[in-house]
Amino acid sequence: MRRTLALLGATGSIGDSTLDVVARHPGRFSVAALAANRNHSKLLALCRRFRPRIAALADADAAHALARALAAESIATRVVAGPEGLVEVATLPDVDTVLAAIVGAAGLPATLAAARAGKRILLANKEALVIGGALFMDAVDASGATLLPIDSEHNAVFQCLPSSYARKPEAAGVRRILLTASGGPFHPHPEVDFATVTPAQACAHPNWSMGRKISVDSATMMNKGLEVIEARWLFGLAPSQIDVVVHRQSIVHSLVEYVDGSVLAQLSHPDMRTPIAHALGAPERLASGSAPLDLAQLATLTFEAPDRKRFPCIGLAYDALDADAAAPVALNAANEIAVDAFLDGRARFCDIARTCDVTLARRTQCDIATLDDALAVDAEAREIARASLGIVDRSRTRSAAPAVRP
Ligand code: NAD
Ligand code: MG
Repeated sequence: MRRTLALLGATGSIGDSTLDVVARHPGRFSVAALAANRNHSKLLALCRRFRPRIAALADADAAHALARALAAESIATRVVAGPEGLVEVATLPDVDTVLAAIVGAAGLPATLAAARAGKRILLANKEALVIGGALFMDAVDASGATLLPIDSEHNAVFQCLPSSYARKPEAAGVRRILLTASGGPFHPHPEVDFATVTPAQACAHPNWSMGRKISVDSATMMNKGLEVIEARWLFGLAPSQIDVVVHRQSIVHSLVEYVDGSVLAQLSHPDMRTPIAHALGAPERLASGSAPLDLAQLATLTFEAPDRKRFPCIGLAYDALDADAAAPVALNAANEIAVDAFLDGRARFCDIARTCDVTLARRTQCDIATLDDALAVDAEAREIARASLGIVDRSRTRSAAPAVRP
């Protein structure tokens, strides 16, 4: 079946992997729209190659630069800018499939718009689901949208569940799921001092090549915490039905345990093209470019319990799930501020978990009924996190972005 795609986060690591798979299947996919933040030169190169009808950049200056460059080359791609441009891309009438691969809470409005528009959503942007929670899942249910997980663990769980699974574990005989975690660069090294590690050390993931934010999340293991929350919504599980196990080789991507004692797992190399190809093609299987597994050569697969004392972010995520709907939003916002500050050299690695903890304790508890509610909680948590880190809000100096046409 031929599919028409819109890619949100086209210039990132997931965007690269997706376009690699898409290019392997000419005639099967048409790329109608590409969106990113501000990397106009990379988006220009993608426009030359994939000729989308529309390109969007969140940053208005970058969008102007892209529009000028496209016009100079007589490429007929229309350029839109700002949050409205992202929403336009996510809801184009001729697009059936939206790949949500923006990093962070910035992806929520467009991803939620895609859900409301009933699209087939390939979800990498876990933060959108962590903060969207019930609001996001209700939008999926109301519109009849299809939600396919790209995150490797959730894609693995999805593959190990019956195709009729309807977010009711008991009805399917599911006892629990086990999310595997590589542990990141520091789990196997208890001697590492979290007060002095550098961004380069934190981003040096042993198995995966990913964007910088998720690489730091893997190093703090907040990534696994966010994934616990993501799994709760995707699969309708109680927090007590979601466990985490450290598996350093990143070959077993997650497991589903049934009431009869059977445990099903999905295995593949740590290559995001496998889950992306699965979601792009489902229910058919597509070649992804990932190498076949050689189990004899791998020889050993290890599993161990995570060290929750050294990596308190996992526990913070479970705590947030047990609290009000605003708690995961605040946790995610505080984490984004602290990770950004760490990557900029304005905070230490150990400040990330502390900032999340402090923000959860100081925030206002409330329910979330609308996108604006979620954005208000997000904004308050960012303020608390910045205050706790003693940093100023640089985004306030930037202006709002109008739409541009070439
Ligand atoms: P990345 O940093 O490589 O790319 C992020 C993309 O988002 C870029 O295209 C960037 O331009 C865009 N973007 C950032 N801020 C934006 C904004 N305000 N408006 C519009 N676009 C914006 O990140 P990534 O590694 O590709 O990760 C993307 C998402 O996928 C994250 O949520 C991450 O947790 C998730 N994910 C990634 C991997 C992986 O292997 N990289 C695996 C699982 C899940
Ligand atoms: Mg993952």
